[in-house]
Amino acid sequence: MTKILIFTDLDGSLLNHGDYSFEDARPSLARIRRHQIPLIMTTSKTRSEIEALQVEMGLREPFIVENGGGVFFQEGYRDFTIAESRHESGYTLVQLGIPYDRIRHCLEQIRARLQIGIKGFGDMSAEDIAAATGLSPDRVAMARVREFTEPFLLTSGADLVAVKEMAAKLGLKVTSGGRFHHLIGDRQDKGAAVRLVRDIFHRNTGSDWLTVGVGDSENDLSLLTQVDIPVLIPNPAQGALHIQRPGLLRAGEPGCRGWNSVIEYVLNEYLPGNARSSI
Ligand SMILES: [Mg+2]
Repeated sequence: MTKILIFTDLDGSLLNHGDYSFEDARPSLARIRRHQIPLIMTTSKTRSEIEALQVEMGLREPFIVENGGGVFFQEGYRDFTIAESRHESGYTLVQLGIPYDRIRHCLEQIRARLQIGIKGFGDMSAEDIAAATGLSPDRVAMARVREFTEPFLLTSGADLVAVKEMAAKLGLKVTSGGRFHHLIGDRQDKGAAVRLVRDIFHRNTGSDWLTVGVGDSENDLSLLTQVDIPVLIPNPAQGALHIQRPGLLRAGEPGCRGWNSVIEYVLNEYLPGNARSSI
């Protein structure tokens, strides 16, 4: 029997870009829960933000935070054995990123050496972040509890290429999501974390898992290349993402509406006992 493992980006994919709603994804989320399909949130968001969303969605599954900086399994999850991990307040954590303090130190070095306007979350007030993201005050507080990465904005005229070059010299790299660029460790990305989670499921269950990956932005490219069924959600603000992958599915609408219809299609196609349908 085919087992399905879904990795999904949040902002602009399962959550609408503008209002962060997942209302229109409720039908397929209900099917996912009913069939106990692991839905692995794979996001630039923080652990606190994901915990709140999992409660809202009625999910309790492993998740990937801060662009692959950390992979969290609930302690005892499916009795899995997880190598190279550590216990961290109720979780088994595999850390792929580097500590936030070091990332902040590097951002300050980049600002000083390049003499550019670069503003990270750590430089912004709660009000600044709320204005840039549209998040509610409680969600802003959760977004500020960072462990591995720093979202940042550049003032106009500042050169992203120069930032990338400087980051590389410091052992870091830059990836870009729907609103922010992110300064992250050079050994992490969503794709590396997806590979790790997939391998943990394979090794611990002895089963084959059909992997589905959903994303909308540049920082999802590595995720989309690691899965059997890549799904692209359109991102009207950024234009079409350049990606060529055999079998790529393209959702017809942005945000949670597109997410719902494309996941319904995948479940109809690949859940045992389902009739085939058209997207
Ligand atoms: Mg996104």
